[in-house]
Amino acid sequence: MSDAVIVNRALFDEVMVPNYAPAAIIPVRGLGSRVWDQQDREYVDFAGGIAVSSLGHCHPALVNALTEQAHKIWHLSNVMTNEPALKLAAALVANTFADKVYFANSGAEANEAALKLARRYALDTAGEHKMDIISFGKSFHGRTFFTVTVGGQASYSDGFGPKPAAVLHAEFNNLDSVKALISERTCAVIVEPIQGEGGILPATPEFLQGLRELCDAHQALLIFDEVQTGVGRTGALYAYMHSGVTPDILTTAKSLGGGFPIGAMLTTDAIAAHLKVGTHGSTYGGNPLGCAVALAVLETINRPEVMATVLTNEQLFRTELQRINDKYDVFSAVRGKGMLLGAVLNERFKGRSRDFFLASAEHGLLSLVAGPDVVRFAPSLVITPDDIREGMQRFEAAVAHVVQASN
Ligand SMILES: *Cc1c(COP(=O)(O)O)cnc(C)c1O
Repeated sequence: MSDAVIVNRALFDEVMVPNYAPAAIIPVRGLGSRVWDQQDREYVDFAGGIAVSSLGHCHPALVNALTEQAHKIWHLSNVMTNEPALKLAAALVANTFADKVYFANSGAEANEAALKLARRYALDTAGEHKMDIISFGKSFHGRTFFTVTVGGQASYSDGFGPKPAAVLHAEFNNLDSVKALISERTCAVIVEPIQGEGGILPATPEFLQGLRELCDAHQALLIFDEVQTGVGRTGALYAYMHSGVTPDILTTAKSLGGGFPIGAMLTTDAIAAHLKVGTHGSTYGGNPLGCAVALAVLETINRPEVMATVLTNEQLFRTELQRINDKYDVFSAVRGKGMLLGAVLNERFKGRSRDFFLASAEHGLLSLVAGPDVVRFAPSLVITPDDIREGMQRFEAAVAHVVQASN
């Protein structure tokens, strides 16, 4: 039967639910920061599968970890524990503020666990009234019903019936807007250290510090959603380490698996104690294959020389983007940190990030958007300078194309 099916982009429209609008090309293999499509056309990968392929494609350490584990044991469920999950949890605990880890399969699930834990902790320690969750406009926390409700984009959360209650939205980087909402009813504040989907908008250190103080004053938990910023992406293992502000709960996914689906929620002993036997769970969470790969990711990335590479790569990205902008005048700013960068389109090109994305693909470069006004780059943390320069030449050709088409 599979012989009869022609596997191309048209088949997507025929057999897939239409909730995505994927690009025309279908990549079939990758190596490092290069990808090849069905026609064997080669692309430089500045997208990293949306900040996931943290070590590029088919990194030998990850291929080894996956295949080694594939020959041992794939799955047990949470009726038993397993060695890769315990080793990964121990490594996360040893390298962060956390004492305890819960494994999930995605960022949304890690956040779902964090939000449920915050509600349960407040119920146990303060009572039923303490259930308000404060998040921020334009924030993104995943696509489960709880996490889209907490996220700050109505287009993702509306149209599915009654939402989980007691979710309030303040303005990002505006402490006064938080002060206006926070009270003894607040159980948690959830924030991205850099808003990713919302447009690569970094929280200011003062904002994060202020949130910490407000949470402490109101006995509310501070949750950092580091699904996009975590695992070395910003040049520190987690972005909170730059700010000096420590959360009570942290969620991590995307880069953690380097392409294998996994997510995790990290927290302290005192808070974790409230997620008692039976309160939450996942059949696949802590799966041996995922954990074996994630441990290899963590061990490969969490080294001073890799963190330094992320920051020198950022400098090269910024220099190249500046060079292109000096020539074509399309950006008003470059935001973000490490290998999570957003080039903000200026007045003239506002709303047209998808045009740059499409032109990039035509010129052999995989890029991303972060909303209509920002071109986003989230490549492998260890992308080589040669790949950056080659990708930027292609990006320049794409920019030239969009600019010429607009004249
Ligand atoms: C991508 C993302 C999520 C959702 O992760 P999934 O793995 O798609 O469920 C949650 N929070 C942030 C900050 C993200 O960038």
